[in-house]
Amino acid sequence: MRRAFSVPSLLVGGHPFRTSSLYGLIHALERRGGVWFPKGGTGALVTALAELFQRNGGVIRTRQDVTGLSVENNRVTGVEVSGGQHYPADIVVSNADPLHVYENWLPMKRWGKLLNGFRRRMKQSMGLLVVYFVTKRRYTELEHHTIVFGDTFKEILDTIFDDHEVPEDLSLYLHRPSATDPEMAPPEGDAFYVLAPVPNLQGRQDWETLEPQMTQNILSTLQQRLMPDLFEQLGATHTVSPRYFHAALSSPFGSGFSIAPTLTQSAGFRYHNRSPHYQNLYFVGAGTHPGAGVPGVVSSAGVVEKLVREDRAVSREQLTAVQDKTAV
Ligand SMILES: Cc1cc2nc3c(=O)[nH]c(=O)nc-3n(C[C@H](O)[C@H](O)[C@H](O)COP(=O)(O)OP(=O)(O)OC[C@H]3O[C@@H](n4cnc5c(N)ncnc54)[C@H](O)[C@@H]3O)c2cc1C
Repeated sequence: MRRAFSVPSLLVGGHPFRTSSLYGLIHALERRGGVWFPKGGTGALVTALAELFQRNGGVIRTRQDVTGLSVENNRVTGVEVSGGQHYPADIVVSNADPLHVYENWLPMKRWGKLLNGFRRRMKQSMGLLVVYFVTKRRYTELEHHTIVFGDTFKEILDTIFDDHEVPEDLSLYLHRPSATDPEMAPPEGDAFYVLAPVPNLQGRQDWETLEPQMTQNILSTLQQRLMPDLFEQLGATHTVSPRYFHAALSSPFGSGFSIAPTLTQSAGFRYHNRSPHYQNLYFVGAGTHPGAGVPGVVSSAGVVEKLVREDRAVSREQLTAVQDKTAV
């Protein structure tokens, strides 16, 4: 039971034996509010938010990597993207990890010392190895969520968080969305992902070599413990590891949930939603207040919306005051 109840803190990126009991609230919230799954998966949630934004006049440009922010004194004046294009901006809200933004998008000279301190002091969440796979038959005997515990638990976590090594014993989370939403699976088949906590890139493993090895180990464990005919039924697989989180999602250490949710890196102690250094730069996402996971990340966007409204109101008042003076 103790293992089972410590999984939610692991799934926001913390070592359960060191994460504040604050995160026990997740259980209370889930009991009260229920556990929700968006029909069509997380992608459907992203599509719906994009449509809402566009319906309100927003324009989205994809396939353009942000490479830098232009600044003037303590204001951000625009966004530079790959290919050299520059978008002027009154305000910038970044969804990329704040450490990545300060290290890569802003003038390093000014932040170098501060950032090195940050890098050393801040505790990072662990990495994730995720194997997405489909099967030719349906596994109706499996629920939407299954946790497969290894023989040990604390030892696995210490190996990952302290030694930054890949443990021999594995604890797995198996996701079968078709239990709730049958359309997530191919006709007559089934769709899953299985997730294993692993060290982040501070472990310096060669993930290109490890990915196929671990995929095989993890699927073998599932075959032994849950799905005896898995290899017979297996279709396509796709594996992502910390190198994907680093390269594709700009996670500085390839960690799954940005900085770890220790007490002194939780809630208001996470990266602030309003940059303390640039007046018109804001942050949303897992590394920021209030924290990782879809509800936390969506809440961070709500907080930024409030801050932007407040800040814009102030500047409008200031503007009026300036205009009044000019009039006098
Ligand atoms: C397998 C898995 C299962 C999960 N399950 C759950 C769950 O059941 N419930 C839950 O609440 N949470 C879950 N989570 C956690 C949740 O998905 C994350 O905490 C959340 O998506 C983080 O959101 P984010 O906006 O901070 O980061 P991201 O979703 O990574 O968004 C950051 C965005 O910034 C973009 N970006 C980065 N750098 C650049 C750049 N230079 N130029 C342009 N764009 C850039 C990236 O492309 C990306 O789209 C899960 C995570 C994983 C990996």
